[in-house]
This record gives sequence, C-alpha cells and structure tokens, in this order.
Amino acid sequence: MLDPLSLLIITIGSAVMGMAVLGSLLRSGIPGVRRWFCSCLLATAALLLFALRGAAPDWVSILCANALMTLALMVVLEGCRQFLGRKPQRVGEYLAWGGMLACLAFWTYVLPDINPRIVVVSALHAYLYGALAWAISCAQPFSHPRYAYRFVGITAAIGSAGQGLRALLYCFEFAHQTELMESDSLNMVFMAIGILAVPCLSIGMVLLAHDRLAYRLERLANLDELTGILGRRAFLLQAESAIRTAARTGRPLSLAILDIDHFKRINDTHGHAVGDQVLAHFTSVVTGSLRASDTFGRLGGEEFAVLCPETRLADATSLLNRLRTKVAQAGWMLKGEALDVRFSSGVDEYRPGEALVSLMARADAALYAAKAMGRDRVVGVPYEEIRPDAEPADLLLRPPAPGP
Ligand code: GH3
Ligand code: MG
Ligand code: MG
Repeated sequence: MLDPLSLLIITIGSAVMGMAVLGSLLRSGIPGVRRWFCSCLLATAALLLFALRGAAPDWVSILCANALMTLALMVVLEGCRQFLGRKPQRVGEYLAWGGMLACLAFWTYVLPDINPRIVVVSALHAYLYGALAWAISCAQPFSHPRYAYRFVGITAAIGSAGQGLRALLYCFEFAHQTELMESDSLNMVFMAIGILAVPCLSIGMVLLAHDRLAYRLERLANLDELTGILGRRAFLLQAESAIRTAARTGRPLSLAILDIDHFKRINDTHGHAVGDQVLAHFTSVVTGSLRASDTFGRLGGEEFAVLCPETRLADATSLLNRLRTKVAQAGWMLKGEALDVRFSSGVDEYRPGEALVSLMARADAALYAAKAMGRDRVVGVPYEEIRPDAEPADLLLRPPAPGP
C-alpha cells in the first residue's frame, strides 16, 4: 500500500526530472522558463524537507518546507505571467506568504495544532492554483493548438479545487488530523492532489515552452523577416491550397503580382537601409488596405503577390487600383521630403484545371506589360492578348465577361 512517504519520494524523483528538462530549455530565451526551473528546484527542496518530518525540527519540516513549497507555486505563477507577457510579481502575494508563515509559527509553537495550519496553507495554495488556471485560460491562443494551455489550465483548476475543498473541510471541522503523515484515506487523497500537482505542472511548463518554440520556428519559416508578411514559400503553399479550393468549389480566384517602380533608384539615392524602410512601409500600407480574406506575400526583393479568393478579374483589378492610389498617396517621408513610391501590377483570374505556375505566369506577363506601358498602373488581361506586338491600349482591362 502506498504511504505518504513513498508518495513524497516518487514526487521528488519526478520534480528532479522536470527540472532536468526545463534546464535544457534555459538557453531558449523563452520568458518564464528560468522561473519555472527555479520553482522545480524549490519544490524539490520543499518535498525533501517534508520527508524529514519527525527526524528534523519543526522549523525545518513545517516552517521551511511550507515556505519553500508555497514559494515554488508562486514562482510557477510568476513564470506563467512572464510567459504571457504580463508583470510577474504581485506584492499582495508576498504579503500573504509572510502572513501564512506567521500563522504556521503561531500554530506550531504557541498553540500547536495541525488543522488550522492545513487551512491556512491550503487556502493560499487554492488561490495560487486558481490564479494560474485563470491566467492561462484567459490567454489561450486562437491561431495555433491550445493543448499545452488546456493541460496547464485543467491541472491548475484541479489543484485549486482540491486545495479549496481541503481548506473548507478542515476549517469547518468535517476532517481532523493529528499529524501530517497520517495514512487515512482522506489525507492520502489530498496529499496525492497536492503532491502530484508538482510533476503535472512541470510537464505543463515544458509543454508551454515547446509550444512557444514551435510557434517561433513556424514564424521563422513562414514569415518574411523584413516585412512580417508571408515569405515566398508560405505564400505559394497558401496559393496552392486556394487553387485546390477554387477547383473544388468552382468559385473565382484572382492573383496579382506587384512590383515597386524604380526601386533601385531609391536604394541608389538614399541607401539600402532606406530601401528596407520603404519596403516595410509599402507592406504596411498594402496590408492595412486589403480584405481579411486576401493573402499578401513577398515573392522576393521588391516583388509581392496578392491572392484574392471569391474575386473576379475585374474586381481584383479595381482592388489593385485602389491599392495603387493608397500607396502613391501614402508616400514615404524622409527628412521632411516625400519619396514617391509607386508600383505596377499584373492581375489574372484562375482558369479551371490549371496549375498555380500557369496562373502566376499570366499575372507576371501582365506585370511585364504594365512596366512596358510606363509603370504605375495595373494590367489585367487574358494571356492570349498579351502579345509582343500588342499596342499599350490593347493591354488595358477588358470589361468582365458576363457570368454564367
Ligand atoms: P522596375 O520599375 O523595372 O521594377 O525597376 P526597379 O528598379 O524597381 O527593379 P530592379 O529589378 O532593377 O531593381 C530592384 C532592386 O531591388 C535591386 C535590388 O538591389 C533591390 N532589392 C531587392 N531586395 C531588397 C531588399 O530586401 N532591400 C533593399 N533595400 N533593396 C532590395
Ligand atoms: Mg521594381
Ligand atoms: Mg522586380
């Protein structure tokens, strides 16, 4: 039969393992990991002191053990707040911790009684677990898997409910105890909840840290570093997926390729760093003007692409013309002087059965035509009509074909 001491020893082992895993993440720079590691260290020390009950003096096995265990929980909570980008420390929690220690000293040396000690410690732990469950469940991400957040939230909620129930039962004398390591079933259940929360929380912290690492890698792989929009690879993947949807549903889909006009001149005149700022500015103007359903990506250099689902060629061309006006109006202020930033664009609509490369080739040919016609314009024409001998006027957008 499992006794409280065996439970403590098993938990010490798993807390040490949690510490080893969190230690491997210390150099990741993830906010909160250092605190989670310290919390495992504190919990291991506290559990060791609890295990010394009977062999060590009360100030070690009661006061120090409870002080360290409660501190471990506070540091886990602080680590989570830091992880979520909030201010980690709260003065009130340290005051409550000091108050708890004063109560423990009183009911150990002045009026020795384990029951009020259990009430005070359990009540503070119930609050700390509850605050952790609340903080983590309020911060659940929408855009990526929430498993780690749910795991920590549920673990903390169970911990809070268990500790809260324990405080109430002992406060209203539904339960009574003469010493900490009693092997009665109620004490065993509460000890199990309290003790097992330590390894469960350290697993939860490791899951959260891995979740953040995966998110960072995903961003690094998908987003363009300078502009923060989709990079070429991620944009093409989304475009492939949009083409599959359009092929399946028969709904329209348009693609535009944008290229900033005479961008080399900006670099040559004002330097590469200003060129970079212009690219970032251009991106933010376009991003702010697109619809939520449109996808914007950087194909490379000063060349971008916009994917417009549920959009016919004529509507996509109008959208791009509105963007062109916005970009031209926004300009870019450099030392009080406005830099003229304009772009040309080629647009075309998906044709059933075709591959992405052929749609992109037509949009690219239209862009080439826009450049040939003098730049600062949007061209959207069926591919067959972009002929080497075509007059500029031939390349302007035809009225949209009547729908079926
Ligand atoms: P056009 O109107 O025909 O498009 O002329 P352009 O000058 O815009 O095009 P060109 O292809 O001649 O030059 C593009 C320039 O963009 C050359 C390259 O050095 C610059 N460039 C590419 N990537 C970056 C970047 O990340 N930052 C900066 N600052 N410049 C870049
Ligand atoms: Mg250019
Ligand atoms: Mg270019």
